[in-house]
Amino acid sequence: MTEDDLLAAFGRQRAASRSHPAPDAGSRRRHLDMLADLVRTHAEAFASAISDDFGGRSHNETRMLELVPVMRGLRHARRHVGQWMRDEPRQVGLVFQPARAWVRYEPLGVIGIISPWNYPLLLALSPLIDALAAGNRVLLKPSELTPRFSGLLARAIAEQFSPDQVSVATGGADVASAFSALPFDHLLFTGSSVVGREVMRAAAANLTPLTLELGGKSPAIVAADYPVAKAAKSIAFGKFLNAGQTCIAPDYALVPQEEREAFAKIVIDAARRSYPALGRNDDYTAIITARHRDRLRDAVEEARIAGASILTHGGAGKDPAKFAPTIVLDPPVGCVLMREEIFGPVLPVIGYRDIGEAIAFAAARDRPLALYCFSNDSDVRRRVLDGVISGGVTLNGTLLHLAQENLPFGGIGPSGMGAYHGRDGFRRFSHARAIHQIGPINVFERLGPPWGKIGRRIGRWLS
Ligand code: NAD
Repeated sequence: MTEDDLLAAFGRQRAASRSHPAPDAGSRRRHLDMLADLVRTHAEAFASAISDDFGGRSHNETRMLELVPVMRGLRHARRHVGQWMRDEPRQVGLVFQPARAWVRYEPLGVIGIISPWNYPLLLALSPLIDALAAGNRVLLKPSELTPRFSGLLARAIAEQFSPDQVSVATGGADVASAFSALPFDHLLFTGSSVVGREVMRAAAANLTPLTLELGGKSPAIVAADYPVAKAAKSIAFGKFLNAGQTCIAPDYALVPQEEREAFAKIVIDAARRSYPALGRNDDYTAIITARHRDRLRDAVEEARIAGASILTHGGAGKDPAKFAPTIVLDPPVGCVLMREEIFGPVLPVIGYRDIGEAIAFAAARDRPLALYCFSNDSDVRRRVLDGVISGGVTLNGTLLHLAQENLPFGGIGPSGMGAYHGRDGFRRFSHARAIHQIGPINVFERLGPPWGKIGRRIGRWLS
């Protein structure tokens, strides 16, 4: 798409949003149904395109981690949109009576969505669901690292929706950069914090309100009271799905000092059970590009040279696109693995002596997108929740807070700003308009200038 095409697509949607600014619940449901049809029709083709883009992405993972949450999100929005749209009465103070006040949730207009490659379907369509439920028009820019998927999505959307309702802009970073400079009524960006900064700069020029869904280093804290094997299996599950290329994957684990070797061994055993061989295993996803694989390899090598112990899955296989599940025991804190988001199947394991030390370790770093705490002791859980602020939390498990339609999903500070999903997504893409309707007598105007004795007295009484 050229810059002129982009401007034309935006102009069309903007004009339509200004001439038809308030679609009713029926037309919003119809848009959600059209999207559900599109997903059902192309489900297999989407999974194949994503697998080709990755050089091997488990179809089961695409189904469970992308298609299922999208369909659940669609059903949830369809069921609740009428109720979400309802005017919300608010109280009016005695002094302003007789009057009524309420909040009306109105569409913002044209929403821009920029999505990444790691869950290309989910992270494009999940915000689209919320934006359509809120009655908006949407321009989508999927990632250039998944070109087959992005092309297919563009064609499927063009067949199903009129371009003044939903349209897809494909292309590289130049298109993405021009895209983020459009004067959207709201822009949602999911991706890295480096690009997030550029998007925020571009949005600032138009005063475009922004939601940033970024990443970060999400810690998993295993408390001493919790069965270490159970925690290790949960963390292995959350870490190795999509080969660790998950924004909320546990990035590193904090484990009681004397348990950390046993913990590491159980994580690797769990990986071997889930993925007995790696090479020809369709369940184990490849790393998206050679550049990303090289970065992981160099980061593990740096930690090894600095003295960390490395444990890897034995059945490495010959597939160069795959990166074996790897544990890095006691990495030095200054190495790349402990400075940057890992975004791959590598788990640093760090020992701690008491829970206060684990909390201080995690709290000293940037506020993460997710936090995992394994403990059956409510006091320990409270200390961890109070001590380490994060976008979201799963207790005694990993990832699943993301799948809850009734919970907001988003980061805090360097891991993002603003949240969406379900009603929170509807509100994210709606304007909460304050409306105050004055009754038959307007006492305030009666008191007004010229200010007499009664007005002055009431003013004194009210202040
Ligand atoms: P990325 O920032 O490289 O790219 C994301 C999108 O930004 C792509 O569509 C790309 O075309 C676009 N882009 C590139 N340059 C741009 C520019 N100058 N202006 C505007 N847009 C531009 O991220 P990625 O590598 O695709 O994704 C990985 C990152 O995303 C990780 O940090 C991960 O944690 C994060 N992530 C966050 C979430 C979340 O929900 N919070 C979900 C998935 C991934």
